[in-house]
Amino acid sequence: FHLADGRVSTGHAGVLLAERRGSYPLIDLCILKSKSPLSFKYNSRKVKRLLSFQRYCHNSRLLRGLVPHTPGSLHLLDDDYLGQAAHMLSKVGTWNFDIFLFDRLTNGNSLVTLMCHLFNVYGLIHHFQLDMVKLHRFLGMVQDDYHSQNPYHNAVHAADVTQAMYCYLKEPKLAEQLSPADVFLGLMAAAAHDVDHPGVNQPFLIKTRHHLASLYQNTSVLESHHWRSTVGMLRESGLLSHLPPDMSQDMEQQLGSLILATDISRQNEFLLTFREHLDNQDLDLQLASHRHFMLQIALKCADICNPCRVWELSRQWSERVCEEFYRQGDMERKFDLEISPLCNQQADSVPTIQIGFISYIVEPLFEEWHRFTDPSLLSQTMMGHLHKNKARWSLLRYAHNSEPQAHSQTELLTQSSFS
Ligand SMILES: [Zn+2]
Repeated sequence: FHLADGRVSTGHAGVLLAERRGSYPLIDLCILKSKSPLSFKYNSRKVKRLLSFQRYCHNSRLLRGLVPHTPGSLHLLDDDYLGQAAHMLSKVGTWNFDIFLFDRLTNGNSLVTLMCHLFNVYGLIHHFQLDMVKLHRFLGMVQDDYHSQNPYHNAVHAADVTQAMYCYLKEPKLAEQLSPADVFLGLMAAAAHDVDHPGVNQPFLIKTRHHLASLYQNTSVLESHHWRSTVGMLRESGLLSHLPPDMSQDMEQQLGSLILATDISRQNEFLLTFREHLDNQDLDLQLASHRHFMLQIALKCADICNPCRVWELSRQWSERVCEEFYRQGDMERKFDLEISPLCNQQADSVPTIQIGFISYIVEPLFEEWHRFTDPSLLSQTMMGHLHKNKARWSLLRYAHNSEPQAHSQTELLTQSSFS
């Protein structure tokens, strides 16, 4: 595990496990901490134990404290919870769907439960002749490979994006034109778009010389990893193995193109193209390429739609994403690295971060989406929440009043990992 230049190879992921389990930043941080790299020894067994423990934590319901400890009441309560969850699913297409509640009612299985339900709604299992056992295995792997210890980039965020994606796929302008393959890929990309997210952003991976940064040459590092992990799980589960090879390969490529579109540093590129299409009124959804572009846009919207939700949900997401930034800032402070933009809890307040995010990232995209939908009822609802939430953060910032100057450059925002 030691390289000649004194760094500990983080290639354990490739050696011991599939690459998709390999993005634990703390392992790399240990290298920075130790004064003499050679004094720091990992043997393969230690790494293996560490990773399998993570997996154990993920899977253990009791450890997560979600199941009552009295064995007698367990099943009754479970049934009651699942009954309520089933009731919620009957309203899965409504914009005020409370994904946090749904996640509690399903014992932390919101992503798997939601995806199975939506696949049934669209008849995708029948259409693609999917094997239910393989589908469950695939979805379980995706859900488990999200890090539940991340305040923001966890399986609940994935479920939330999937639910938003479903709402967008139902938009009248889009719904009638979409093929079963479009719907399948849209939902799959939403569910897997942040899988195995390490809870830190790309600049952090680059400056700590994480193996993923060099593997993907410092470009769309996280998004590439989310995609390649998804492909790994698709192949491991055999979900698409019954399809003709060129068809499953094409699906893998399209999933990649969708997931890579969530890279927030490519925001302008997509926004300009979208705006141009709307100005020229030349979107032709009979064309597969135009439908694919709209799926990319829909996924991007779903990924950053938190400020368009009702305040109570929106506020929770804001606090979670900022908590994740602050944790990165704390790690950077601890290891004497420069603290990344938006990651300094003392300087960057939640209201300030949110106002910048809304003004420079969310509003410009949703204004175009609003135009695309004609505007639809949902779009009007979302814009209403967006403006109200922004005003509310402004009031809170004013009340906070602890900082005179806000970071407000798009540049700062696009460097961070909101998506
Ligand atoms: Zn995301």
